Amino acid sequence: MMANKPFVVLDAGHGGRDPGAVSGNWLEKDITLRLVHGVKDFSPTVLPILTRLTDVYLSLPSRIAIIKKIHPPPSCVLSIHLNWSGKSSANGYEFIYGGERGRILCQVLNQYFNPPLNFRGIKLDLEASKKKLAILRQHPYPAALVEAGFISNKGDMKYILGNLDEIAKMLARGIEKYAKEYVGKNEAGSRNTG
Ligand SMILES: [Zn+2]
Repeated sequence: MMANKPFVVLDAGHGGRDPGAVSGNWLEKDITLRLVHGVKDFSPTVLPILTRLTDVYLSLPSRIAIIKKIHPPPSCVLSIHLNWSGKSSANGYEFIYGGERGRILCQVLNQYFNPPLNFRGIKLDLEASKKKLAILRQHPYPAALVEAGFISNKGDMKYILGNLDEIAKMLARGIEKYAKEYVGKNEAGSRNTG
């Protein structure tokens, strides 16, 4: 049983000297770290590997190197972030992918992710961020990035800070579902398609 649990990668955005988005006393890096630990704790059917366990700086190449070294290969990669906007009214969550398998991973995650926040959609990185995101593309595994809400929006933050476990549980259910149902489809002939 233990031996059959698939690895999954949980990547907490930012860390150390890179706080990510900042709003008042809130730092994106702290919330993403709490969320990955929550997802890890609520995912008993998979073996989560966290790119960072603590508040340390980790470059994108370092994150990619960690992901590529995992063996047996992980079934998927989930990177957790919070959004930011200069407009404090901007709000809601979205899922971002860089390739077809990542898009399917986003769809599965979204099936289990139902916070009472505005759903902004499932988006290609080029559309959501205007650039290709390394964490979604520079390794062979299906990858999704969740922007779990806006750190710059008071309503989003009230919900997020009061429901960190709930958010982590919803993401955990999706990760477990994907690892269980879709992992076989990762094996053959679909490397390097994101
Ligand atoms: Zn971020």
